[in-house]
Amino acid sequence: MKSIHVLHTGERIPVGKIICVGRNYREHAREMKSEVGEDPILFIKPSTAIIQSGDEIVMPPFSRELHHEVEFVILIGREGKNIPPESAYEYVFGYGVGLDMTLRDVQRESKKLGLPWSVAKGFDTSAPISDIVPKDRMGPPQNVSFSLTVNGQLRQRGTTRDMVFGIDVLLSYISKVFTLERGDVIFTGTPEGVATVKPGDTLTAQLEELVTLTCSVR
Ligand code: MG
Repeated sequence: MKSIHVLHTGERIPVGKIICVGRNYREHAREMKSEVGEDPILFIKPSTAIIQSGDEIVMPPFSRELHHEVEFVILIGREGKNIPPESAYEYVFGYGVGLDMTLRDVQRESKKLGLPWSVAKGFDTSAPISDIVPKDRMGPPQNVSFSLTVNGQLRQRGTTRDMVFGIDVLLSYISKVFTLERGDVIFTGTPEGVATVKPGDTLTAQLEELVTLTCSVR
């Protein structure tokens, strides 16, 4: 079973489900020529998609267009269903940065045919995640910045302040659909600047000055 490391403690938390939010930043929705919906768009990755810093992202042979999406990530600390927004943060264990790796050509074809995104978004190694910063060791999560460089060049920079649906609203909405459990991971959407990577590239994602995630593409 896959697990996630807690920063500086050696603790490992087994991963449950991975819930991802689509179109949660207006500029990214615009670059994808998509509309921001009235409710968050959700999709799921299997826990087998998780890798950690130092591991390789493996480009599957059935795609020719692998995209990076750097995202602020939430790790759930305890079980909750129908969580009210005002108590959402009680259910959080901590935060990290992740990459929602996407096979854009496969996704485009799925969208065209009205098919699910499971292959485009859920393939092995599609969910690199940093170590998790416990919530009491970070400032207010509503205003933290994160970024991604590829081979040392800045590709994406975002701040959680720009989310269309904030963390409390997301946790409340998601928990109406899926019971949240300790070890569940939420990818909260990507800001603008998504682009392709190719074998040999090195991706480095950063959450403030708190934690770094580095993976190369094979
Ligand atoms: Mg995404």
